[in-house]
Amino acid sequence: MQWQSVYIDGNWVRPEGEQTLTMVAPSSGLEIGEIARGGAPEINAAVLAARNAYEGAWGQMAAVDRGRLLSRLAQSILDHEDELTELEALDTGKPLTLARGDVRACARYFEFYGGAADKMHGETIPFLQGYQVMILREARGVTGHIIPWNYPAQMFGRALGAALAVGNAAVLKPAEEACLSVLRLTELAEEVGFPPGAINVVTGLGEEAGAALSKHPDIDLLSFTGSPEVGTLVQKCAAENHVPCVLELGGKSPQIVFADADRDAAIKTIVAALVQNTGQTCSAGSRVLIERSIYDEFLSALAKQFKMLRAGSHDKDLNCGPVISKVQQGRVLGFLERAEADGIEIAAQGQIVTDEASHGGYYVPPTLYRMVPRDHELALEEVFGPVLAAIPFDDEGDAVRLANGTDYGLIAGIWTESGARQMRMAKAVRAGQIYINGYGAGGGIELPFGGFKKSGHGREKGLEALKEFTVSKTVVFSHG
Ligand code: NAD
Repeated sequence: MQWQSVYIDGNWVRPEGEQTLTMVAPSSGLEIGEIARGGAPEINAAVLAARNAYEGAWGQMAAVDRGRLLSRLAQSILDHEDELTELEALDTGKPLTLARGDVRACARYFEFYGGAADKMHGETIPFLQGYQVMILREARGVTGHIIPWNYPAQMFGRALGAALAVGNAAVLKPAEEACLSVLRLTELAEEVGFPPGAINVVTGLGEEAGAALSKHPDIDLLSFTGSPEVGTLVQKCAAENHVPCVLELGGKSPQIVFADADRDAAIKTIVAALVQNTGQTCSAGSRVLIERSIYDEFLSALAKQFKMLRAGSHDKDLNCGPVISKVQQGRVLGFLERAEADGIEIAAQGQIVTDEASHGGYYVPPTLYRMVPRDHELALEEVFGPVLAAIPFDDEGDAVRLANGTDYGLIAGIWTESGARQMRMAKAVRAGQIYINGYGAGGGIELPFGGFKKSGHGREKGLEALKEFTVSKTVVFSHG
């Protein structure tokens, strides 16, 4: 697979110096193709193209027509579902069923925001006698988007769906580890007729193309999804130019299980929400907090399920695939080695199932740890792998302290049959999404999503995202 060009102003062009990056399949460790290594010159050209599109044909397009284009793209994605699924699974290593779900979610973003394009209404405000005040909601202009490798197709939909619906022109920098579906989706966007410059996609390294985008003075908003470290860096760069940022960063999301919970439902969901995408989900439920009175019983039932987990090549469609890269494999295994050195006991481990073809893949065993101390890195830091830390709590107050006791606040699952406690917990836990007797890692395009604390700020998804990608303008008429 050769994608040696970047997409700028409606053209596929080779970057200056014609440099490329090699893509590797995580399931096998084998090379699968090359992508263009774009940098500052390509980002500059892409931002200029976006600015011209915003001030030209794209910016002038009626909202209803923008919506129709997004809807056409949604349909085209569904028409190419099989092809996109295979590409996404090969490129990221994720099991085929998950990849298919991601492709459908990508289509759903364009469907949802296509329908919303002509429903971004303004307001009027009662003011002094002789005045009429209107609040217009306008597109920001040129939006920059830097996205990670864990859900490339979904991120393409999440980033561009909302931004384009309200009339922004976008420059997207996908992750160098996995972006083949993004390039194919860009081709589909071109085919359905987005005008030149409305969408620009520049592949390349974070410290080259990504840094150039975050430092660019002529973008009006930067939307970044990725690690807290890089999120901090890009926000500082954007601040130099007074460019506002939406940051969607990491998480250490808790599943909080009270003694009165429906245990079977909780266990099934907790396991699924951890292993989804091999734990490489910002909203993975990677801590299970269990009321002490049921701790042993609940943990042994959870361990039983955990032992049945299998990790293997994407095309085997098991519970987990490989992690994204050798570097990521080393990172996750590092957590396991340090836990062993610190004497933390494994409650259960799944199995790695490989054959000759997947021998060089980047696998890690799904692992459940018991009695993780509250100050241990497994209880506090994002592993970004299929690793679950079980921690007991004493009562509701203790559960809240523990749930809120990390630097993160992305999502939380609360398992209890008590209605009053559900409400108290929902209010007390500081996270952008709270699930009661359920858990939706990444699900629900309609549902606003975003973090507290180090998990980021701003909201994407749902209609809330349209607010982020627009800005209000107050117009005061004096009519005497
Ligand atoms: P990362 O921060 O290393 O990379 C994310 C993106 O930033 C990539 O496109 C990368 O090329 C780019 N980048 C890297 N260095 C850069 C720089 N100096 N300047 C500008 N851009 C740069 O993160 P990752 O390893 O790709 O993704 C994993 C992280 O993303 C995890 O922490 C995870 O929780 C988080 N994540 C969050 C969400 C969310 O919605 N909150 C979703 C997915 C992933």
